[in-house]
Amino acid sequence: MNEVTLELDGPEATRAVGLALGRTLPAGACVALEGDLGAGKTTLVRGLAEGLGIDPDEVSSPTYVLMQAHEGGRLPLYHHDAWMDGRGKALLADGGAELLRAADGVAVVEWASRVAAFLPTPRLTCALEHVSLESRRIRLAVEAAQGGPEGLVSGLQGAVEAACSALRP
Ligand code: ADP
Ligand code: MG
Repeated sequence: MNEVTLELDGPEATRAVGLALGRTLPAGACVALEGDLGAGKTTLVRGLAEGLGIDPDEVSSPTYVLMQAHEGGRLPLYHHDAWMDGRGKALLADGGAELLRAADGVAVVEWASRVAAFLPTPRLTCALEHVSLESRRIRLAVEAAQGGPEGLVSGLQGAVEAACSALRP
């Protein structure tokens, strides 16, 4: 499945989507997270960490830290924050964009639209938006370029399917 929009009826649903992604995402996956303050980005990353077998309480909002690595799970989680100053952008332009895809683990990028030019393909975009105080909506989309590595694309599609199944009653 390439793209789906899901209604998230409370924080537990956001966590469930993250959990399903963490259980299924393949090594080399880049997850681009979009959404305003309070949209649920960190809630999703905590679920994703848990799905990988990492203590979700280790995950914090990484603002002002470029990247936090969490090891000890099925795969390492590299949690990036793209709400960065000029110094961070210079690092990305200077070869650091390679860090946004880690061959051995899962890279998650909060505020991904701020570094759109540096994001790798294929990738999984997760765009969260407010519906009301008590609910959110998420669009999951596999963004692939022509001729990209097929195995990674189908791995990302499988994770989208797992996220859909996780919300089914
Ligand atoms: P962000 O990292 O995008 O700023 P957070 O993950 O910190 O957002 O979440 C902000 C608040 O929204 C938290 O109180 C969280 O429990 C809540 N929240 C997360 N997902 C949902 C949802 N689907 N419905 C309602 N509230 C949610
Ligand atoms: Mg946050």
